[in-house]
Amino acid sequence: MSPITHGMIGWIISQPLEKRRDRLFVTVASLLPDFDGAGAIINIDYYAQYHHTFGHNIFFGLLLFFITLKYGIDKKNTAILVFISFNSHIVSDLFGSGAGWGIPFFWPVNNVMFEFSYPFQWELDSWQNLLTTSICIVFIIILGLFKNRTIVEMFSVNADEKVVRIFHRWFGSGK
Ligand SMILES: [Zn+2]
Repeated sequence: MSPITHGMIGWIISQPLEKRRDRLFVTVASLLPDFDGAGAIINIDYYAQYHHTFGHNIFFGLLLFFITLKYGIDKKNTAILVFISFNSHIVSDLFGSGAGWGIPFFWPVNNVMFEFSYPFQWELDSWQNLLTTSICIVFIIILGLFKNRTIVEMFSVNADEKVVRIFHRWFGSGK
């Protein structure tokens, strides 16, 4: 699944949290696994070898959990949502990364591959992924109207306020 969709899912999961910094932790947790694909910048062989390995296993998820437990503000709740957000990435990949992209979830302890199959697996550029992204956008607009914040807050609070104002104008809900 595309990093943008992963990020949107993570941000939606972060919504029960009061503090923006905690929501940032949860959103980032949904994006970090794909850093094991960054080897593509050096060499496509690195990508093939390491993508879906050191970022896509339960130990990396637990590492994020414990880091958040130390540095989060609402520590316990943020750490739990970080772990859920991390796993949302894994599940989304199982559904929407196409065939041949199994995930060794217990790597490096073992290399057992987890992989869904048809009809619970679809290609990266499929309508199912597009639908997921569209549903996320609808959720983000709804949250913008009801909680007065959007995913843009991850980059800039000022820009986020502007976006919220635009949503309110579109939907005639005042503010
Ligand atoms: Zn991934």
